[in-house]
Amino acid sequence: TDRTVPAILRARAAQDPDGTAIWCEDRRTSFRELDVRSDRIATALLADGLRAGDRVAYIGKNSERFLEMLHGCAKAGTVLISVNYRLTAPEIHFILADSRSRLLAVDADLLPVGTEAIADTGVDHVRVMDGGDDPRDFDTWRDAQPAGPVDVTPCLEDPVLQIYTSGTTGFPKGAVIPHRSFAGMLDLAHNVPQQPLRWYEGESILCPMPNFHVGGSLFPFWVTMQGATIVLMPNFTPDAVLDAVETHSAAAFVAVPEMLQMILANPRTETLDYSRLRYIYYGAAPMSPELLKRCMDTFGCRFTQTYGMTEHSVIGLLGPDDHGPDLAERMLSVGQRTPGMETEILDPAGDVVPPGVVGEICVKSPAMMLGYWRSDGTVDPSVDANGWFHTGDAGCYDESGYLFLKDRIKDMLISGGENVYPAEVERVLGEHPAVLEAAVVGLTDPQWGEVPKAYVVRRSDVDAADLQAFARERLARYKVPKEIEFIDALPRTASGKVRRRDLRERARQEQG
Ligand code: ATP
Ligand code: MG
Repeated sequence: TDRTVPAILRARAAQDPDGTAIWCEDRRTSFRELDVRSDRIATALLADGLRAGDRVAYIGKNSERFLEMLHGCAKAGTVLISVNYRLTAPEIHFILADSRSRLLAVDADLLPVGTEAIADTGVDHVRVMDGGDDPRDFDTWRDAQPAGPVDVTPCLEDPVLQIYTSGTTGFPKGAVIPHRSFAGMLDLAHNVPQQPLRWYEGESILCPMPNFHVGGSLFPFWVTMQGATIVLMPNFTPDAVLDAVETHSAAAFVAVPEMLQMILANPRTETLDYSRLRYIYYGAAPMSPELLKRCMDTFGCRFTQTYGMTEHSVIGLLGPDDHGPDLAERMLSVGQRTPGMETEILDPAGDVVPPGVVGEICVKSPAMMLGYWRSDGTVDPSVDANGWFHTGDAGCYDESGYLFLKDRIKDMLISGGENVYPAEVERVLGEHPAVLEAAVVGLTDPQWGEVPKAYVVRRSDVDAADLQAFARERLARYKVPKEIEFIDALPRTASGKVRRRDLRERARQEQG
């Protein structure tokens, strides 16, 4: 039990009670305050009649209250569900009902959608963050309780957090994360070579990722429980990131490629002082080598790529020493195996394939989720007979143990019997100077079964024939898009991933 979430916080608060755990806008929270407030929340949850295993929903922008609730729930034995606040009331309703949530903490400005969403669900308590005079005000509810710990002793296998996957390939799935996974992340920070995920007391790390996404919920825990300060940003804008880098003399920040692209477009990046900036972390979606190079030139710091998912935070890590200039090809890798876990490429029969062969990336790890939440209230471990979790991603290792991600197996198309990975075609199109970004989907074709079609967002003028000629020089013929359509922007999830299934649907309709 000394590696459960409450035990980890308790130790951190004892070691550095007055150190800054969180900055959010102009509010500072110390480690002691985080510990005491989460004690009060745990007491308040139990006083509301919640018991171990009960679900508590949270709809709010990034703030210290998210971490208070995470720790409060961990202490009370309840499970926090952070809901995407951009969803509509019916979508939120689905998650509240599916998860059988009993209490909802909601930002005051999201109260209308929250109120609509709880109709006919099991939610019987609502707490309003920044509720002012509302009798359901969150801070009033929390601070009415005494400061001591509750009489609950969680164990490592108990669930703490239920995070919904991004829903890129279908309906979001609720991944149930136990105390063990949180402890496993801290081990990883210490054990991984070069320690790119090690942060120290007095350092500030920025997190513009939303707290309902795996990056935005686990990363702040990870930073603070190593003793560093997390700077939480309620809204991502390039200016907000640059302001925070400046104000907090940030040591690092985490961003998805789409955010980095937007930040680089801001002229202030030329003049800011990055002398304290040690690291930028990127991941969640493919990063183009061209964008990575521009980032390296601009920020002059070290870069680390993470490959991971809701079900298991980090699976591959490409540290700063892995992508030197003479290792250009390695920039396309998502890194090496991380210590303490097994990662292999399996073929459809379930056998491990040798280096160079593409198959499904599969994982066994102590940091793995308990499983996916089922609406009957049980958890589906989602591992095969040999204990492997199948990621749904296709990839291969090279001889030196670097992992190359191809694409999602569901997004792969088969053209004339050959596999086409959209990500590869998109990367090549992205190398054309006139292309800002591209997304590739399959069109049904009477002759080839499927053929690739590209949706392209232009940076400057170019026509489809030019792009096809460009692609033909760099790709096998069957990978070259048969159709190219220019659009203004690609549809994306809140975690910055291209929603190819929306484009597939669009392509189907256009095809008639
Ligand atoms: P769903 O499972 O609901 O379809 P999702 O898989 O997009 O949604 P997440 O768990 O947020 O939900 O994302 C994990 C996926 O993101 C991975 O399986 C992988 O396909 C992609 N991904 C993660 N890191 C990287 C990376 N560094 N480069 C490219 N793709 C990445
Ligand atoms: Mg997934």
